[in-house]
Amino acid sequence: MKREFVVIGLGRFGGSIVSELIELDADVMAVDIDPGLIEDYADIATQAVVADSTDETALRSLGIHNVEHVIVAIGENIQASILTTLILKELGVPKLTVKAQNDHHEKVLRKVGADKVVRPERDMGIRVANNVVSNNIIDYLELSEEHSIAELHVSGRIAGHTLIDLDIRAQYGINIVAIKRKGTIQVSPQADEMIEKDDVLIVIGSDLDIHNFEKKLFH
Ligand code: ATP
Repeated sequence: MKREFVVIGLGRFGGSIVSELIELDADVMAVDIDPGLIEDYADIATQAVVADSTDETALRSLGIHNVEHVIVAIGENIQASILTTLILKELGVPKLTVKAQNDHHEKVLRKVGADKVVRPERDMGIRVANNVVSNNIIDYLELSEEHSIAELHVSGRIAGHTLIDLDIRAQYGINIVAIKRKGTIQVSPQADEMIEKDDVLIVIGSDLDIHNFEKKLFH
């Protein structure tokens, strides 16, 4: 059975969620107050509907309360975003993901019942900063405020050492969860695994420990 989602607000953020969910073979009802956007998404979404999401009766008549997960991607109109979240919560939507513009908006959304609050511009900014700060960090994924998963490119220095030689967990407080090598990926590598030049290490740990590890062993 296909998973069902409703996406409210078809700006750049909401629109890309709709397209990606469809790519991932989900059923998506796309909702926006702007008929022009609904026309654009008529051939993309499973169903595209013009509605004002601050109108409880309209949401009820669309049957949105029966859908397992609703994403509210209204950005600039903070009042509409909060009111929509409140109504959806009251209608009993099991899972609500909502986009916030700033700290205050995020705080209010959590108070009125958003299960997950996303801040795409801020999160992407953090990711890009962590990617560009070092040539060895290929990608960076925030797990929490302080912990991340990073992909590190082995350019020389630690090549030829085994994981046990480097005593990574004890010395640096991070764990190597996988090694990518020539198109293959080895998950949970053994302690006697030799690191080779051009390996990509996927590590998990605190941001501080990951940066310390990268500084000490990758320069
Ligand atoms: P982007 O994702 O492009 O950064 P944004 O954060 O600037 O967008 P807005 O453009 O403010 O967000 O809103 C996204 C969409 O939400 C718009 O297409 C807008 O028409 C829609 N929207 C705003 N208010 C409502 C509402 N009450 N009901 C339904 N849709 C709404």
